[in-house]
Amino acid sequence: MTSTTEVLALQGGAPAVTKEAGDIFAWPIVTTEDEEAVLEVLRRGAMSGNDVSKAFEAEFAAWIGLKHALTYPNGTESLRAAMWACGVGAGDEIICPSMTYWASCTSALSLGAAVNFADIDPETLCIDPKDIEHRIGPRTKAIVVVHYAGYPAPMDAIMPIARKHGVLVIEDVSHAHGALYKGRMVGTFGDIAAMSMMAGKSFAIGEAGMMATNNGALYERCISYGFYERTGVASRFNAPDSQITMEELKPFAGVPLGGFKHRLNQTCAAMGRVQLKYYDARTAEIQSAMNRFWDLLDGVPGLRAHRPAKDSGSTMGGWYSPRGLYRAEELGGLPVAKFCEAVRAEMPNAPYWCHPGANFALHLHQVFHTADIFRMGQPTMISFGQRDVRQGPGTLPVSERIGEIAFGIPWFKHDRPEIIAEYAAAYRKVAEHADALR
Ligand SMILES: *Cc1c(COP(=O)(O)O)cnc(C)c1O
Repeated sequence: MTSTTEVLALQGGAPAVTKEAGDIFAWPIVTTEDEEAVLEVLRRGAMSGNDVSKAFEAEFAAWIGLKHALTYPNGTESLRAAMWACGVGAGDEIICPSMTYWASCTSALSLGAAVNFADIDPETLCIDPKDIEHRIGPRTKAIVVVHYAGYPAPMDAIMPIARKHGVLVIEDVSHAHGALYKGRMVGTFGDIAAMSMMAGKSFAIGEAGMMATNNGALYERCISYGFYERTGVASRFNAPDSQITMEELKPFAGVPLGGFKHRLNQTCAAMGRVQLKYYDARTAEIQSAMNRFWDLLDGVPGLRAHRPAKDSGSTMGGWYSPRGLYRAEELGGLPVAKFCEAVRAEMPNAPYWCHPGANFALHLHQVFHTADIFRMGQPTMISFGQRDVRQGPGTLPVSERIGEIAFGIPWFKHDRPEIIAEYAAAYRKVAEHADALR
């Protein structure tokens, strides 16, 4: 007789996961140290100050290994500022993978620039380096590289293309704080890094973002764009932040260019300083938990880990929004949606982790086709004399197939072998019983 654990939970069997999840998924980890740091800012009435944020920036810059860092009220604004600092303006273009969160590129439109979307590589889910060069035109100012779902993008292939054409590289590190590419932290390969630190990310400090760069000119431009008190020349508001005095920005001290205000609420900066102290140790535990999960699924038909090879020197950082890669052909064509439905039934206490796909393919979204943001009587993508780089269905096949080739897996924050083994068993069980579902 077949035991009930061998029957899929979807078909009336016993679920693979029986243990309580406890706090294995809880994130961020908040202790009294975070609470005290936030309360200190509140009690001092220093929410709108700069001292805590500047201390956090200095510590963050030292941690990532770059000269300059700047805090932002969210990642979206850090990316907008990075684009503007790179010279993206009306009539220009940027290149960005279609498979990412909208904030990686959408503010290009608010700068009057168009987004030329590139496809992703089906193994890394990051921008495909082979789909970049032919997109570069005379008005291309920047390439946005996203280390997608924690996977470090192939910077060795990307940077030479950018350098050859004099195009700057913005790394969107929102999914991959602390991830290594060949032994070096992501965010340090391009010209400027920008990232989210909102509550759902692996570096989670409320609503916040960070920019980091070695390039003093880009740093000063970011300051002049959104930090009216901190411009690189002495103003009546503040002493200079740095030694750099940029002639082009001098006359504008005290009023931010374009009217942006990018100062972070210091309660978040205070939490950020505490979180940074523990980030490496906590993400090391995440890495061992996630690698344990995938090691248990090694060789299971239809399923592939989304992680770099173990001897590559590359890591997944905090494993934000972890994915698996799906090979339906190895499971007799079982659709990933059906696979995920069956996995969810095997883990009734945490079904939310397993859904097909990832983000939606941005190149098909109407914002990048028809939206007339400036009310100019034509789509913003072509309003400022840009080439028409809009792309319809069928143009970026990997991004468009994301719902067939990827699925979600649990994001463990603690390395607890017995619990992780049950979740791995849930995925294995469904893959090994694919026949029963077809
Ligand atoms: C979350 C995210 C952002 C935007 O950050 P916010 O802090 O939410 O503004 C940008 N890029 C990517 C890839 C993200 O996932």
